[in-house]
Amino acid sequence: MPFGHDMVHSLATVVELVNTSPSTGGDEGLPGLPELAAFVEAREVSGIGALTARDLGQVRIVREAFHRVFTAADQPTAVRTLNALLSETRITPRLTEHDGHPLHVHYHAADATLAEHLAADCGVALAHLLVEGEVERLRTCAAPDCDRVFVDESRNRSRVYCDSRTCGNRMHVAAYRARRRA
Ligand SMILES: [Zn+2]
Ligand SMILES: [Zn+2]
Repeated sequence: MPFGHDMVHSLATVVELVNTSPSTGGDEGLPGLPELAAFVEAREVSGIGALTARDLGQVRIVREAFHRVFTAADQPTAVRTLNALLSETRITPRLTEHDGHPLHVHYHAADATLAEHLAADCGVALAHLLVEGEVERLRTCAAPDCDRVFVDESRNRSRVYCDSRTCGNRMHVAAYRARRRA
């Protein structure tokens, strides 16, 4: 995909965020503040102070809104859903260099909460993806017992599983067994 590294990073962050949701088929991936702090650290979300229960609640709300963008039935629905999220988010573009990353743009306000930070930066990354006409790249895993989301970055938009090593491999083994039984 012709996207800069910060956009790729934001898309990976929103995928990871959405996949902590129980609505993607697993357990609650953000049951408490330690897990939220681990997410912040893993995704290198910068400038976040002490996290509170309020942050956790707000992040879960933003997470469900992002999930609705990934599972939108069509582009107009995705646009409407994303616009609703963006309209509730203060967006303040600012050039920055930090933690060894090259110059890039942050979209969250300087005093943003964690939920606002994610809504702004991931929201703008998704907005660019929609502008590029790439809404089809927002996918849900094709394995029957997995509803995890992913961004299909393959050249021919052919990826169907969230992770080829787990779901992809599992489905290939199942298909092989089914063929042998037939
Ligand atoms: Zn940054
Ligand atoms: Zn999967």
